[in-house]
Amino acid sequence: MIQLEGIKKIYYMGKIEVPALRGVDINIKNGEFVALMGPSGSGKSTLLNMMGLLDSPTAGKIVIDGIDVSSLNENERADFRLKKLGFVFQFFSLLMELNALENVALPMIMDDRKYDRAAALLELVGVGDRATHTPNELSGGQQQRVAIARALANEPAILLADEPTANLDTESSHQIVGLFRELNSRGQTIIMVTHEPELGEMADRIIRIKDGKVIT
Ligand code: ADP
Ligand code: MG
Repeated sequence: MIQLEGIKKIYYMGKIEVPALRGVDINIKNGEFVALMGPSGSGKSTLLNMMGLLDSPTAGKIVIDGIDVSSLNENERADFRLKKLGFVFQFFSLLMELNALENVALPMIMDDRKYDRAAALLELVGVGDRATHTPNELSGGQQQRVAIARALANEPAILLADEPTANLDTESSHQIVGLFRELNSRGQTIIMVTHEPELGEMADRIIRIKDGKVIT
């Protein structure tokens, strides 16, 4: 599903080179639930952003769902992101003036049944009874559930989550990763960044990153 070969990423701060990834090879299969773990600054977000086509590598090859993504232009990349990838972030990044149902329906494309589908997704993630509430009327855990429902809106091949529980208490964090497990058991491929060992161990496989490299 995701193949990374020799991925390097150098950020330039003026003339100073900051090597964030130093040659990463990863192969993730369809249906896997993978946790990316490593210390702060080790390159986890950079790596996830490569998989999410939010940024491009300095060197290396990325194949997602059979497509060499370096061959795509900017429009094709945006289209690929919208149709094939779902994103969940640390800050739930919901639109505050929309209710839960509207937030989930927002990214749905060409679908005249979008509100029915959004309601079903809210049900799936366990907040079906909160559809008409705005984010400020929901707990952090509930907001993240809504954000996950929104990430699933276009039935993405891959769900990418960067520290999705960093702003949640321990119990809500376990529930959110439990929800990921449930989605994974229904076939969803999931890549989750976390630095909490207990949460990482709930995934099928842990990939550890240190200083921009995969360690074994
Ligand atoms: P993590 O998510 O594991 O904490 P990051 O992927 O955010 O790590 O960062 C990896 C390294 O790249 C760090 O040294 C960080 O300071 C650097 N870095 C990340 N983003 C940028 C950027 N936009 N410009 C310059 N350096 C960056
Ligand atoms: Mg990070």
